[in-house]
Parts: sequence; structure tokens; C-alpha cells
Amino acid sequence: MGRTLRVRNPRTGEHDYAFEAADATRVDAACAQLRDAQRAWAVRDWTERLDVLVAWAEAIDRHQPALADALSRDTGRWLLAVAETRGVRPTLERWRRYASAVLVDSEGRSQAMPDVRFRHQQVPYPVVGVISPWNFPLLLSLIDALPALIAGCTVAIKPSEVTPRFIEPLQAALDEVPELAGAVALLPGDGETGAALVESVDLVCFTGSVATGRKVGEACARAFIPAFLELGGKDPAIVLPDADPRHAAEVLLRASVLATGQACQSLERLYVPEAMHDTFVEHLVAAARRVTLSHPDIHHGILGPLIFERQAGIIAGQLDEARARGATVHCGGEIERLGGGLWIRPTVLTGVDHDMKIMREETFGPVMPVMAYRDIDEAVALANDSDFGLSAAVIGADVAAAEAVARRIDAGAVSINDGALTGQMFEAEKHSFKLSGLGGSRMGPAGITRFFRRKALLVQHGTPVLIDAFDEGHAAG
Ligand code: NAD
Repeated sequence: MGRTLRVRNPRTGEHDYAFEAADATRVDAACAQLRDAQRAWAVRDWTERLDVLVAWAEAIDRHQPALADALSRDTGRWLLAVAETRGVRPTLERWRRYASAVLVDSEGRSQAMPDVRFRHQQVPYPVVGVISPWNFPLLLSLIDALPALIAGCTVAIKPSEVTPRFIEPLQAALDEVPELAGAVALLPGDGETGAALVESVDLVCFTGSVATGRKVGEACARAFIPAFLELGGKDPAIVLPDADPRHAAEVLLRASVLATGQACQSLERLYVPEAMHDTFVEHLVAAARRVTLSHPDIHHGILGPLIFERQAGIIAGQLDEARARGATVHCGGEIERLGGGLWIRPTVLTGVDHDMKIMREETFGPVMPVMAYRDIDEAVALANDSDFGLSAAVIGADVAAAEAVARRIDAGAVSINDGALTGQMFEAEKHSFKLSGLGGSRMGPAGITRFFRRKALLVQHGTPVLIDAFDEGHAAG
């Protein structure tokens, strides 16, 4: 018997849901079944696998009301929950475009040995383990699973124990597609389940915190399997002197506070020219004050509650430390307990420096510390003074100048004249720099190719070289 885990509702604070965590025996058995099923799954043409996934997307559409309801109870928000349920079909169409380009056997001929021709076989990893976080529970459970399945892998998915309600309706949709049910296992559970999963699979796609990512990476190294780690961020934005301060403030606000800042690519540090600082802060505070909370009605207001109770403590701790060290809070700044949930309004801070946790550690809340810079070199140095390198933003009227600054930032993606674009588009390949992650891009065509190994089949059409050719006397002659 697995352990029973109780789950807190982010809007009421009540533990109103419980589920049984998959233990190591169940994880092991599920992965053994997937390994058996994978041979039949992989021999099918990729277009057939994609058709099966489309059938799943159709089943998900049929279960959409239950799925959206469960996700909204998991996350305390409605619009973003619905958006997660609507993402599967368009995602499959994007992978269809890439798959037709990358899932083809390639051929070539040797330059040194013209009679030797080679062909490539793409060999999928049999069982991929996906471990996902609580901030976008469905999206981040499927983001790597779908391309892995198209590549010919089977997949075991372990969603976060903080937001597990959506698993039941997702499983119900899966049960309606028997051809896929053998290729996908949904394994509810916590860290213990995740750790067991790492021991039973052939490749891991992990999305979550740096601390857990490090443990998962170490376990994968011991098991000698690849780990794709998508971890946290502390994304900077640089506003250039030629930017319009009001427009910059409004764009950066959205990219900082959307989803109550609970997105890895949320902007968490804003750098503005000294001469623009006060005007920018004025506009940012005015825009921040217009952002409403979706309390008490989930269908009215912009920001939902904080999903994870422990995160509220981290945010409060960072704000307390910044205040104690002399930072000024212009708006927001308090965790509010409303209807049993934990909430925070968009928060603007000034008088911050890089000795404060609020400028160094991931906040994962709608908190915007603003710092003035003297010149572009200083702005770039401040942006790069971080353990993280997930993404960043640059705002400026001269796009070429903004791109020149973006090229100097140590991060895997830089949005120019917008912010957090990687949360909205998935075509551009990108890597995570520094502690923000490890492994190949989950975006773009590489999102599929990382799920197989290339085997080279080398065919000699001429006469093989024989051992006599290596006789020292023969060579000298
Ligand atoms: P977390 O690291 O606490 O947990 C993530 C997952 O790992 C959960 O499913 C958890 O049960 C599991 N887990 C815990 N211990 C484990 C272990 N020892 N072995 C295997 N699995 C284990 O992260 P979280 O709090 O759920 O998510 C928030 C974090 O995720 C933030 O840091 C955020 O930036 C990051 N994130 C990154 C991206 C990205 O694409 N880079 C996207 C979303 C979220």
C-alpha cells in the first residue's frame, strides 16, 4: 500500500483532497510494463504514434470540464487552468511539423573511404521519466512527454504532490485511448515516488527547483542515464535609456506578475537608467496598483492565490530581509490571508542591492525590485551577477541596440521589447545557463531529437582493408 497524502486547496487553505502515492514497487512495475510495451510502440511509424496522441487530445477535450475544474482547484485560478487544458492539440500540431523534418533516416558517404556509405537509425530511449512541478501542473507534465512519445519512447509521468487533482481526469482521458494506455503511466506521488522513478527509467526530464534538480542529476549520474534539468530562474530585465518608461513599466509588470509570479521565466530584477528611475517607478507602481486579486470570486480579478504555502514563507522572508536592510516597499509587500488562501499583490521595491536575497534567490512571486544603473556596462554586469541564467528581457526603442545588449546577457533566452516570451512560444531552441538547468533544448526541433540515440550503420561497398596493409615493412616499401 502506498502512503496517503493530503492536499491543501490554495483558495481555502483546507486539505480537501487526498491520494495514494505510488511506492517504489508500483513505480518499478509500471516502468517494467512500459519497457515491454515500448518495442511495439517504437516500431510504428511516427505518424501513427502522432495519430494516437491526437486521439488522446480529443479525449482530453471531452474531459475538458473536469480537467479544468481539477486544475483550477489545484492552482486556485481559472483562465490559466483553462488555457492549460486547451494546449494539447496545438502542441501536437507543432511537433508534427518538426517530426516530419527530424524523424527521417539520413544517409551519407565517407570522404576518406568513398566505398563506405552510412545510414542512421534513430533509437529512442525505452522509458522516459517526467517529473513536474506545481506551477503549471498539466502543461509541465506533458511538455516533454508528448515529444518523447512521438520519438518512440514510452513515458512515466510523476506530477507534483502539491497539485495532483488533475491526474484523475487526465487518466480518464487516457483510458479512452487503449493504444496509448500501455505507453503512458501516470504515477501520483511526492519526492519519494520521484526518486524511485529515477531508478527505473532510461532518461529523466525534470522540471523543478535547483535543490531537487541537483539531487535528480546526481541520481541520474549514478544510474548512468541522461538528465534534462529545467530549473529555477532570477530573470533580469534591462530598460535602455531610449525606452518609453510608461510602456516599459507596463510590459515588465505583466512579465513579472502573471500567474502571481509563479512561473520560472517571470522577471524578478528590473534595472533602469539612473535618470529614468523615479519616473519608471512611478509608472510601475501605478500599473501595479491596478492589478486586482481574483478574490473572492475566481472569475473576477487578475491574480490568483499563492499555490504553495511554503512559497509564501519564502517570499515573506525575502521581503522582511530586504526591508530590514533598508529597501523601500512602494506597494504590495504583505502576504494577505483571504478566505483561508495566501495572497500577495504586485510588489514594487527600491533601495535594493545584490547582497539581498530578493536580488539573488528565486522569489516565485509578483515581486519587482528596481535598481538604477549608471551605464550599459554596469547594467549588463548587474544582470549577469547571478547564479541563474534562465532568461531575461531588454526594452529599448532601437531594436539593434537592444539586441546588442541581449547578446551580452548570460541566459538561454532574451525577450526584446517584451518579457517572458518563452512562456508563450515554444519554437525557439534554447538552453538553460548556469544553475537554471542542464541538457538539450526542450523547445524547437531538438525537443524531439534528444529522445533518441543515433546509431550509425556503416556499409562497405568496396574491398575492406586487410591486416597485411599494416605490416611495418610493407608500409615502408
Ligand atoms: P521541486 O523541486 O520542489 O519539485 C519538483 C518535482 O520534483 C515534484 O514533482 C517533486 O515531487 C519532485 N521531487 C522532490 N524530491 C525529489 C527527489 N528526491 N527525486 C525526484 N523527484 C523529486 O519544485 P517545485 O517547488 O514543485 O517547482 C517550483 C520550481 O520549479 C521553481 O524553482 C521553478 O523555477 C521551477 N520551474 C522551472 C521551469 C523551467 O522550465 N525551467 C518551469 C517551471 C518551474
